[in-house]
Amino acid sequence: MNSVFIWCRDHRLHHRYSDTDGDPHNSKRGFFFCHMGWLMTKKHPYVIELGRRIDMSDLQADWMVMFQKKYYYYLYFLLAIFIPTSVPVYFFGENLWTSLLVCYFARYVLSLNGTWLVNSAAHLYGTRPYDQNLQPVESWFVSLISLGEGWHNYHHAFPWDYKAAELSMHFNQSASIIRFLERIGLAYDLKTASPELVKNRIIRTGDGSHYELGTEEAREAVKISWGPLHPLNPSYNSTLKAPDAILKPGGLPLYHEKDILDADVMKRKTSQA
Ligand SMILES: [Zn+2]
Ligand SMILES: [Zn+2]
Repeated sequence: MNSVFIWCRDHRLHHRYSDTDGDPHNSKRGFFFCHMGWLMTKKHPYVIELGRRIDMSDLQADWMVMFQKKYYYYLYFLLAIFIPTSVPVYFFGENLWTSLLVCYFARYVLSLNGTWLVNSAAHLYGTRPYDQNLQPVESWFVSLISLGEGWHNYHHAFPWDYKAAELSMHFNQSASIIRFLERIGLAYDLKTASPELVKNRIIRTGDGSHYELGTEEAREAVKISWGPLHPLNPSYNSTLKAPDAILKPGGLPLYHEKDILDADVMKRKTSQA
């Protein structure tokens, strides 16, 4: 639970210093830490120091973000506790305690844990077809639960792509919602990576497990790409090890400078994608 502003700052920090001590939920510190432990401990000094350097001027200039930050606790009480709890009580005659336990506590515990899987499981258990130098992985399992946020190797390789996945049709309701918002004018200037850009990246830095451009050898390592064992993917993790992450003062570029961004591609409307 936090305001949009604080969430964005932590998320920018997470992308710039992924899986190092500068990352608020550094996955190198284990599953529990990056899942929820990071919210229970004091921040690492690097997180505090590097967090101050993250440019937040765009959000500071946005009145709606700052409004939500300023009145966060009032809005939280109204939208997360009061309305969800009172609707069943008022309209369906539900008992207040039952309503509070189900519509606030149970809902909150389930949705938070689903969201946290993006920081934990999607950094630990899966494949790296886009960039094997990045710790985050592709996980259909996490995508299913988080409505599309589990295609995480792609998301870290192309953090500016609105759909956070190469293919937006698989377990990616988040991308569909953004496209719908674009249609009604609430979202605009959606950025997406061109197929050529993605292809070059897969060939240059991928682990070889890509469904189309991968190699037989790498696919051999990912025998269990489906089925109940997939989230732990034992064959993959023993063949293709997770990369080391070294904290560098500059961090990773938030807008991947290694990829040459074609202005036309960046502006391309998603209807053509
Ligand atoms: Zn992200
Ligand atoms: Zn991540």
